[in-house]
Amino acid sequence: MRQLTCVSAGKLEWRDVPAPRIAADGEALVRPLAVARCDIDRLLIAGTFPIQVPFALGHECVGVVTELGDSVRGLAVGDRVVVSFQVSCGACGRCRAGLTALCERMPVLSDYGMQPLSGVEYGGMLSNVVRVPFAAAMLRPISPALDPAALASVSDNVPDGYRAVARHLAARPGSEVLIVSHGTPSIPLYAAQAALALGAARVHFASSDRESLALAEKLGAIPIETDFGARPATYPIVVDAGVTPAGLGYAIRAAEPEGVYQSVSFYPGPPIPLPLGRMYTLGIRCFVGRCHAAALLPEVVALIESGRLRPEAVTTRIVDWDEAPAAWPEPAIKLVVRRSH
Ligand SMILES: [Zn+2]
Ligand SMILES: [Zn+2]
Repeated sequence: MRQLTCVSAGKLEWRDVPAPRIAADGEALVRPLAVARCDIDRLLIAGTFPIQVPFALGHECVGVVTELGDSVRGLAVGDRVVVSFQVSCGACGRCRAGLTALCERMPVLSDYGMQPLSGVEYGGMLSNVVRVPFAAAMLRPISPALDPAALASVSDNVPDGYRAVARHLAARPGSEVLIVSHGTPSIPLYAAQAALALGAARVHFASSDRESLALAEKLGAIPIETDFGARPATYPIVVDAGVTPAGLGYAIRAAEPEGVYQSVSFYPGPPIPLPLGRMYTLGIRCFVGRCHAAALLPEVVALIESGRLRPEAVTTRIVDWDEAPAAWPEPAIKLVVRRSH
């Protein structure tokens, strides 16, 4: 089968690889219908992390179940599903506690399409068939009435934005929220949208990128254009989504005393100093960590099905499947690749 493959830094092509097969009772095969580009993908192919080529690309998709192992319950061939980008069993202690990014049965960073980070090739979703090792835990059926392209990013970036604000707004209902966007284009916009859907009083959106600011305003947030050098106002909940030390510093300065600083950022490169003296003195609550995709899928899909979350409003470019090798490295806040046949 054809699989989109990074063959050298910045260079992508379709490669022929053996189609995966079901290897155990609890597995499924899924044919991707629409694949979204995660905010990390352009960094992966640019060589920001040490890369070992070739590696497969794509870890956010809506697909259709084409084959199921004998022991899978609650799913049927033909179901439309969102696929968790993280491989997780659903049955170990951590998975049962909702910590599916850290499944005890899998090596850390067991994700589709991210071999440069994990060192393990799980295959990419820009392919004809994806093998899902724990179907019941990793697949979430969606209504066939929903557009696959609209929900493709629900595998990863949509729940990442959602979880950045959901638990903090549950603890502090109706709070004001600041989203600081500095280099991961779509996650902060999903966070802004989720904060508004979950009842934030107001959502401010700080960025140096005019396109992101305009889109944030369209979603209902209040844009703040900044190079992150200025002194920000303070907020009870601040989300740091990006890749720059300047953005991180701005986000920490914007957390009010006893306020929440939530990082959804992965900082590659050398360690970055944190102002722990200030954070200690003011009691800034610091939350860092990956999203637990499989555990979050039911509540995020429910919010979308209720019409309160509209991930398609963040999509800025949709291309046909065959255009993926050319379109994938190009800038766009949110790129979605879909099959037309
Ligand atoms: Zn991702
Ligand atoms: Zn597990």
